[in-house]
Amino acid sequence: MYCSELGDQWHAARVEPSLAHLDAASAGRSSRAVIATITRHLEREAERGSYVAAADEEDALVAGRRALASLIGHTPEELSFRDSARTSLRALLNSWALPMSPTVWVAKNEFGPNLAEFERRDFAVRVLPEADVYGHVDVDSLENMLQFEQPDFIHVCHIGSASGVVQPVAQIVEVAHSVGVPVVVDMAQSVGHVPTVTGADVVYGTSRKWLTGPRGVGFVAVRSDSLAKVEVESSDSFIAGQLGLGTAVTELLEIGQQKVFRELAAIGKATRERLRGVGSWEVVEANDEPSALVTLATPPGWGVADLEAARAKLLETGILVTAADSWRAPLAGDQPHLRVSPHLDVRSEQLDALATTIRTMGY
Ligand SMILES: *Cc1c(COP(=O)(O)O)cnc(C)c1O
Repeated sequence: MYCSELGDQWHAARVEPSLAHLDAASAGRSSRAVIATITRHLEREAERGSYVAAADEEDALVAGRRALASLIGHTPEELSFRDSARTSLRALLNSWALPMSPTVWVAKNEFGPNLAEFERRDFAVRVLPEADVYGHVDVDSLENMLQFEQPDFIHVCHIGSASGVVQPVAQIVEVAHSVGVPVVVDMAQSVGHVPTVTGADVVYGTSRKWLTGPRGVGFVAVRSDSLAKVEVESSDSFIAGQLGLGTAVTELLEIGQQKVFRELAAIGKATRERLRGVGSWEVVEANDEPSALVTLATPPGWGVADLEAARAKLLETGILVTAADSWRAPLAGDQPHLRVSPHLDVRSEQLDALATTIRTMGY
């Protein structure tokens, strides 16, 4: 039985999976329409030449740009395409004329590779105060801190890679803007998953995760009235991928974005309820955290190798999840997690099978 009323529709739009795909946070399953868009364009490139084919598809490119821009609360002109979220962040940091050794404030769920980008450029990184044990940013404390000191910018992972916590980005933007501090948001795990109209100055993300667009496309958008004075150039090479992403976003908007977000939150809740108390695994998020990214802390005494082995064993039994090592969120500690990230086509039998398999692992 599908866990969501959208399950049947989402499933019917895709090729039959050969396993229980509970790994949208790594890469979602593209629809047949997305795959057809890409392959059709690749064929046209061979028939007519890549540049002629791209010019022929100008209307579709504009429509895809408009759809994605509306999802993230930007205008189509503000959007640039890169080939991943990581290269989007790099493009942003490389083009931004920041002072020497700038200061950036980040949340506890910051993505490890982003921290590496900051460290490489000699940024001073400070961690924002938390409101609770889950690591949500404490917006009131932030507002206080900002009265005394202002960083060059605040960088937030809307949702991190190793926890389903959804950061209160719109509130963070509000208090930061009241003192003139720009906010940059990593939307790699949030776009297509939770509401992403936040008012942030700069946002960036990736096509292949919750949007279920193709791998190899990322985007960055800078508001025209951004407090961050920076322009990012597009790297317009993978036109078929941009068209495929456009199809994916259009499909999402046709279902209704709010409906998708509501259903994904309900799926996250059902998943956490099903997995809580199974063996000596521990569900990290509160059940009603409004995301479908679910993490389980490993049984006591487990190292990364045990987790990798568990992930491999699950894959052998036909269940795809992530072994999330601590490099993904180094500020949150060194505990590795099993990451379970079902999309709309998850079935309750798949969650039962996952629970049954991990119950026998570790005591
Ligand atoms: C996956 C991920 C990224 C990187 O995305 P790529 O497109 O692989 O570069 C960045 N931030 C977070 C939080 C992620 O989960």
